[in-house]
Amino acid sequence: MRKTFKYRIFSTPAQDELVDVQLGEACRLYNGALQERRDAWKQRVPINYYKQANQLKEIRAAGDLGLANFSCCQDLLRRVHKTYESFFRRVQRGEKAGYPRFKSRRRFAEIGIDVGLESFATLSNGKSVPNPRWYKECERKLRRAQRRVARRRKGSHRRRKAVALLQKIHQRIKSQRNEFQHKFTFWLVQNFGVIAIEDLNVKGLAGGMLAKSVHDVSWAAFFSKLAYQAGNAGRRLIAVNPRGTSQTCLCGTKVLKRLSDREHVCTACGLIASRDHVSAQVIIQRARISPSNLNVAECIACVV
Ligand SMILES: [Zn+2]
Repeated sequence: MRKTFKYRIFSTPAQDELVDVQLGEACRLYNGALQERRDAWKQRVPINYYKQANQLKEIRAAGDLGLANFSCCQDLLRRVHKTYESFFRRVQRGEKAGYPRFKSRRRFAEIGIDVGLESFATLSNGKSVPNPRWYKECERKLRRAQRRVARRRKGSHRRRKAVALLQKIHQRIKSQRNEFQHKFTFWLVQNFGVIAIEDLNVKGLAGGMLAKSVHDVSWAAFFSKLAYQAGNAGRRLIAVNPRGTSQTCLCGTKVLKRLSDREHVCTACGLIASRDHVSAQVIIQRARISPSNLNVAECIACVV
């Protein structure tokens, strides 16, 4: 027989905050473990409670578990395990089987973002954020205005006028871009607790063959806005090593692609998906294993 006791706690604001933090950590551990299972299932890698629980020790050894109670972490992982077992049982019985969902105290699920040329960003959950509609239009106008300036004689009145027009277009792009990025970064921090991006050397890119005025400025500004918003909202922003994110499969195999290859086809594990989607997943995968930022690492004490 199982007995449950409920206690009402009259807590101080400081205690409230402590409980809140721990609840958030618990949520993150649960979601991290769930995500790991989802990924494992997609890649056909066997995973069970023990495999996940074994990681806890390593994580504790890394010193990330100041607040944590070990058996509570285990208990959470057991719950994830139980959720999956029940899910498969329902599937076997032919019942209506809801797929295990992320816990949503404040809707923390993690996300990886791949910024690109084709669309503004691709997320690790498969969603793609297209470049806004005004973007192409602006590019065309910009090109035309620049051409006009180049054609006119230096020091002439007509050139000054053309320059003024060019500056106006730049200004307009800037404000539209700002608005779009504010909305997007706000949505990201509202919906995700851990946000992984590539640690892109935007300055380096701007000088390279991909240099495109709109894109370059766009990414740098986007990252700085995201960092600011994530900091304000208490979210974790992880910048991972960008080396080869578009040339690696989730299974670790190198899958070389040219810039024009839009599809990812891995001969080792059979994964076929869009190039950017895989990159975004690789980014979140790297964020997970980066030593200072393990998501499963952020453990918890039990909240009774
Ligand atoms: Zn693969």
